[in-house]
Amino acid sequence: MKGTVLYGPGDIRFEDREDPKISAQTDAIVRLSATCVCGSDLWPYRGLQPIDGPTPMGHEYCGIVEEVGSAVKFIKPGQFVVGSFATSDNTCPHCLYGYQSSCMHREFMLRAQAPFLRVPQAEGTLVATPGVPSKDLVPSLLAASDVLGTGWFAADAANVKPGGTVVVVGDGAVGLLGVLSAKQMGAGRIIAMSRHEKRQKLAREFGATDIVTERGDEGIARIKDLTKGIGADSVLECVGTKESMMQAIHSTRPGGYVSYVGVPHGVELDGQQLFFTHVHLHGGPAPVRPKLIDLILNGAINPGKVFDLALPLDQVAEGYRAMDERRAIKALLRP
Ligand SMILES: [Zn+2]
Repeated sequence: MKGTVLYGPGDIRFEDREDPKISAQTDAIVRLSATCVCGSDLWPYRGLQPIDGPTPMGHEYCGIVEEVGSAVKFIKPGQFVVGSFATSDNTCPHCLYGYQSSCMHREFMLRAQAPFLRVPQAEGTLVATPGVPSKDLVPSLLAASDVLGTGWFAADAANVKPGGTVVVVGDGAVGLLGVLSAKQMGAGRIIAMSRHEKRQKLAREFGATDIVTERGDEGIARIKDLTKGIGADSVLECVGTKESMMQAIHSTRPGGYVSYVGVPHGVELDGQQLFFTHVHLHGGPAPVRPKLIDLILNGAINPGKVFDLALPLDQVAEGYRAMDERRAIKALLRP
């Protein structure tokens, strides 16, 4: 088969690779219905995160199970499954506390921008849908394998409560789905920070009540204006830079909650400053073991709308370029 490999900054190749095979009896092989490019893929693509030689890419996926190892009982060939970017047994203490992305048997997935994928810990990592879903649901189910779960965790970790005031920093797919999640959790007011017209529109569609285009100190001042000088109850940091983190912390009221789900790059916090802000911080790689599938299947949410570009998998390099240049929010790839 062919698969996606990053060779260096801006150098994505779709090239021959070995077909994946069962290597542990807890593995499954999945024929992918769709995969996509993640915002976090852009860090190494832009040369802002070093890679150790040619690196197979992709960690968001859904599709039909082809084959399973002998220890896999509940996931069966022919089922449609949604996976996660981190594998999990779903039985260890961390998993049982709901932190599957810190599973004691965790592996971070790679190689999903390909037609076939080996998934370790298949029974814990994969969630099967009842029956094979219709094609129009595939983008939303694909979103459940990372970006929706990450947006949901961002809202959850920021303690979004019915009636609360929420700020979302970052207008990428995760931020937009943080808006959707906050809306589902009953937030009273959702302020999306975005200066990109198309993304503002989708944020409003997902439930944003206000848009703030300013950033940094000006952005913080706007949030204070909008909240009678108090700050927000919950702030979702969905970028991962120092600027976005400081913007999030200083937009939060004392006693409020900041979640951070963007992989941090160059974020350093000043202890004294943090001390006097009185905010709760909770974040990390989201436990996205797909759990929002019912909401998708019954039509309550349509997170697949973040995919505003769909390409054949062999045009994956264009998917990276479009996201890098912010021409696309998120690129879906069809094998
Ligand atoms: Zn576990």
